[in-house]
Amino acid sequence: MSEVRVTVMETGYCVHPEHVVLRNWRPRRMQFPAMFTLLEHPTRGPILFDTGYGQGYLDAKRQLTGRIYNAVTPVTTSADRFAAPQLQARGIEPRDVELIVASHFHADHVAGLADFPRARFVYLRSAWQDVARLKGLRALGKGFLPNLIPKDFEERSDPIEEHAFTELAPEFQPFRRGADLLGDGSLMAVPLPGHAVGQIGLFVRRAGPTPLLLAADACWTSRSFRESIMPSNITRLLFDSTGEYRQTLGLLTELHQRRPELEILPSHCTEAATRHQLSL
Ligand SMILES: [Zn+2]
Repeated sequence: MSEVRVTVMETGYCVHPEHVVLRNWRPRRMQFPAMFTLLEHPTRGPILFDTGYGQGYLDAKRQLTGRIYNAVTPVTTSADRFAAPQLQARGIEPRDVELIVASHFHADHVAGLADFPRARFVYLRSAWQDVARLKGLRALGKGFLPNLIPKDFEERSDPIEEHAFTELAPEFQPFRRGADLLGDGSLMAVPLPGHAVGQIGLFVRRAGPTPLLLAADACWTSRSFRESIMPSNITRLLFDSTGEYRQTLGLLTELHQRRPELEILPSHCTEAATRHQLSL
């Protein structure tokens, strides 16, 4: 069975008070890296799970909605930190990336899509349907900046349909249904609803004894799933469904308890960034 080489990278970070995320009263400010993951498959080449920030984000900041987004979520980033130049530094040209899996369409996950001119895009159809026709403040209300999306996005898309989900092997429980993206069991997409409509995560079969779960924004820190901590009420206003968020977090907590050796990687977790030796 194919095994994938995994490299986690970050494209910048934003800063928020800890209590917003971990529902305590500590005023300490925490950094939240915007990570993406390079998945090097033996026959399909380099694949990305999300892109973090990209050139489109700098362009979007010149417009009103981009400026508002950046005022609410002040981002520290720069062009040399984007996915495309980081991959080039590793000998991977943007045109070499033929597949990008988008966990959901918040700006900090898809701002680099336009930097990869040959990539096809995979995501859950309902995630795109939720935001595709939104513009201006209505889009911004869902954390979505339409200008980040390439003009030919839909022509280059292979959305995951409901019928693609089949029963997962027992090793992934309590997750029960997944979509085998490459047909070889190496990348299994699983629904992680609650944070955003149609959010997906990815079980990755990597070299070594245990797979990895890329958990996107199902939670923002590793403490959240270890200790089953919901974020603050303010933050929950941004969620699609608090009830589904709680259920998804419960699945992550149960997975961690059943298989503590299986790495769960939230996209914005500083602890995970440190584990992958990223300097913020
Ligand atoms: Zn998000």
